[in-house]
Amino acid sequence: MIVTPVAKQPMALRNSAALKVITVVSGTRPPTLPCSTVVSFDSIVTLTAITPTPPERRLACAADLAAVSPGEPISRETALRLIQCSDEDLPGLLALARAAKERFKPGVITYSRKVFLPLTNLCRDYCGYCTFRRDPGDPGAHTMTPEEVLAVARAGEKLGCTEALFSLGDKPELLFPEMRETLRRLGYKSTLHYLEAMCELVLRQTSLLPHPNPGLLSVEWIARLAAVSPSMGLMLETTSTALLAAGAAHDNAPDKVPARRLRTIEDAGKQHVPFTTGLLVGIGESAEDRVDTLVAIRDLHERYGHIQEVIVQNFRVKPDIPMAHWPEPSRGDMLRTVAVARLLLPRMNIQAPPNLSAPYYEELVDAGINDWGGVSPLTPDYINPEKPWPHLEQLRLRTEAKRCSLRQRLPVYPEFVDAAAAKSGLLAEKLRAAADDHGLVSNGLVRIGRAR
Ligand code: SF4
Repeated sequence: MIVTPVAKQPMALRNSAALKVITVVSGTRPPTLPCSTVVSFDSIVTLTAITPTPPERRLACAADLAAVSPGEPISRETALRLIQCSDEDLPGLLALARAAKERFKPGVITYSRKVFLPLTNLCRDYCGYCTFRRDPGDPGAHTMTPEEVLAVARAGEKLGCTEALFSLGDKPELLFPEMRETLRRLGYKSTLHYLEAMCELVLRQTSLLPHPNPGLLSVEWIARLAAVSPSMGLMLETTSTALLAAGAAHDNAPDKVPARRLRTIEDAGKQHVPFTTGLLVGIGESAEDRVDTLVAIRDLHERYGHIQEVIVQNFRVKPDIPMAHWPEPSRGDMLRTVAVARLLLPRMNIQAPPNLSAPYYEELVDAGINDWGGVSPLTPDYINPEKPWPHLEQLRLRTEAKRCSLRQRLPVYPEFVDAAAAKSGLLAEKLRAAADDHGLVSNGLVRIGRAR
């Protein structure tokens, strides 16, 4: 038996899809280890037995890789094979994905310098992986006041932030009388009315541009929020309805029904609202589900042209969540998923959060991302508070080590800036003031050195 820390293994071995992986929770008695075993010393222990890659699978993968045409989207069937490619084929997959990224956005990786505004962490859903949500009375349960919102936005403004990211639970007032009372005291009928007012407050009183993530939205609410924010977001997460089953990640989350989320994204498309969405990797979905989620996003973008960004976000385990003993997706899972996303969506913006892949996040550039998402010099990632964002100078250095320059973008992507800025009104005015000729932040590169 060989027992070796995972971190000391070559990545090719650690991420091999040809390896059989068994997980047990640290602290429980491990099963008898098979020969050639890799053990991590994290909270999750991974035991691995080596099996060879079947030659026919390698041949099929090699044929798929050889048939990829730069800039042309691959088919669902090809994606299904490539997302399960062996470790030996992974470098070839990554090389194609990086080439596709360079064809789409050569030599640059963008990020959005933001403040994170957790408007309320009360939520009517109970997702198995969520550490953000609270019930009324729980320690840390909080709804921000307008004064708090403005104070954080103004502090971010001083640090060169251009995005006010509003994250909040989905319609908590439908479940909790305490939230109805809070809203009554604040003078609003619903959480969405309050969110709309706070977006407008930030827009009027600061140079930041709001980007709300409020959960499911009606046609009317998409239009109302689009009047006070140049873009908005809703993670599709997955198209798998299996995750709604008892004991699965979404078994007590009425707002996570995939059809309902697809409907909101489609309704935003019909209104031409620049929209951020994406998938969550490692919450119980299969590799096929990941491909189908990406294909569903691609289909919507082909119909409406409004998906400004596709986030590939990995599940990270936390001690106080229902999925505390769930295995995290491996680096190999992430690299394969990001690379396949790039080949399925060769002309779309693909983002992966660096803090969730630390300390090796720069490898995501090899897999074809062109954006790091929102990074804050001020506020923590309230969704993953144990994973601090990298220092912006570190992010710049690591991005440059991958032969790309780092540029600051607005919450709305450059492709969508002109159309939004051409409108009349305060939002368009603010957008015109914030954007340079390329639709990025004026002097965004220069500002990096001033953070923190
Ligand atoms: S992930 Fe979002 S919808 Fe699910 S419980 Fe957390 S805040 Fe609520």
